[in-house]
Amino acid sequence: MIIKNVIKTIDEVAITNANAIAYDELTRTHTYTQLKSHSDNLAAYIEKLEIEAITPIMIYGGQQYEMIASFLGSVKSGHAYIPVDVNSADERLTDIIEIGQPGLVIAVDELPISITQVPVINQEKLEEIFNQDVHFDLTNPVKDDENFYIIFTSGTTGKPKGVQISHNNLISFSEWMLSDDFNWENGSNVLSQPPYSFDLSVMDWVPTLLSQGTLKALPKNVADDFKSLFKTLPEMDLNKWVSTPSFADVALLDPEFNQETHPGLNAFLFCGEVLTTTTAQKLLERFPKAKIFNTYGPTEATVAVTGIQITQDVIDQNDKMPIGYVKSDTEIIIQDPDGMALTDGEAGEIVIAGPSVSKGYLNNPEKTAAAFITVNGLQAYKTGDLASRDANGLLHYKGRSDFQIKLHGFRIELEEVAQQLQQSQWVEQAVAVPRYDADGKVKQLLAIIVAKENNFEKPILLTNAIKQDLENIMMPYMMPSRFIYRDSMPLTPNGKINLKGLIAEVNGNA
Ligand code: AMP
Repeated sequence: MIIKNVIKTIDEVAITNANAIAYDELTRTHTYTQLKSHSDNLAAYIEKLEIEAITPIMIYGGQQYEMIASFLGSVKSGHAYIPVDVNSADERLTDIIEIGQPGLVIAVDELPISITQVPVINQEKLEEIFNQDVHFDLTNPVKDDENFYIIFTSGTTGKPKGVQISHNNLISFSEWMLSDDFNWENGSNVLSQPPYSFDLSVMDWVPTLLSQGTLKALPKNVADDFKSLFKTLPEMDLNKWVSTPSFADVALLDPEFNQETHPGLNAFLFCGEVLTTTTAQKLLERFPKAKIFNTYGPTEATVAVTGIQITQDVIDQNDKMPIGYVKSDTEIIIQDPDGMALTDGEAGEIVIAGPSVSKGYLNNPEKTAAAFITVNGLQAYKTGDLASRDANGLLHYKGRSDFQIKLHGFRIELEEVAQQLQQSQWVEQAVAVPRYDADGKVKQLLAIIVAKENNFEKPILLTNAIKQDLENIMMPYMMPSRFIYRDSMPLTPNGKINLKGLIAEVNGNA
């Protein structure tokens, strides 16, 4: 499928499939006609506000229809959106406002902090705007190299980085998703589970709306509760499943999660972290009619740039699941630490060059210059991921070269967790270390702490006090699940905390 313009294509779907359901969130549904009219009305309203050209709009909420309608309203009015999940810590919101400098905030859910420096559209007002009767012409939508969305990831300094994804970047990704590589049929029912602030969500909502499909939203409260999750999933009538492998592992805990209870499920699309052989094998056995795809990519290159269908042959021929072949419009260079290209079979850093690579981090030239380069005239990103390429062009992932980890699909920088732990009044020094399972996947995040003098009778009471201090500072997914107390931190010869040594110690390799 050739897509010239994401916004216009979704509008055309709304004209030809007026009454088809675009968004289904268990208790409410919205048609394509509603989606078009609500986003048009919002765009008309935003245009009247005359906020400065190119300033982004922050959109805050969970897995609701109003999020997608607001994303479209925002880009229709010529402004990129910054999706921020309802489960974000307050400090993240303030950081994003400070760095992203949005000209408007749309609060689909109630904001946890008061925002006075930027105009805010609350839920009630949004409903009123959606339903107003105005005329709108699409005269100034986001186009070409202009930002379509900005997704914030975590940065090593503790400040998040805003990855700018342009309309051109998104076109490159969307055309690939709807190419023969994935057999994405028109009108598919697609799971929409990853939060919209995580770019994996772009893999579900954008191709679905471009191809007359229905987004089947799974709200977080349902996803987090096994009982209601297991009951709800079979009722969703899914054709495509998009998630991290960790979320499929949760679904697999239910022995009834299989082709019989999901007769229409024909594809699993994974991205964001290692897909283990165990998960792939279980899915192949339970879903004989479904294709399983492993895809790989960082937010900085628009969701994913490599992919492969995992068949029994692939499992039999590989110890670990390969991350696939690079998409046709993109080049991958495997390079050594000096930036020299390596040959087939040699492991080095993945550098991605092509039309889906971001122009860089918003308002952060320093971090942009450190990670983005040009290769053969193409915009390129140094991923910090290690891989080798075999003679057939297949890429094999070898982990990260730095201390950034993936836990349950979330990207976590160990230094950032440590820095936040140190904000507790009871903490003298802290580091965070991952514990890996036999497949090399992060299984647990541990905190190693040198505590300040205190009178707690038991370590658990100290841990509770630290957690309480950090309640409004730390995102829940970043909170370590075990706390280990020491009298001092081990140091390297240079006098730095020996993080590698600690990782080896907790993993039994010291
Ligand atoms: P994010 O930008 O949050 O999507 O995180 C991107 C990072 O997730 C990559 O740089 C990889 O380290 C990791 N990642 C993404 N996809 C895969 C995959 N299929 N296998 C292993 N790691 C992956």
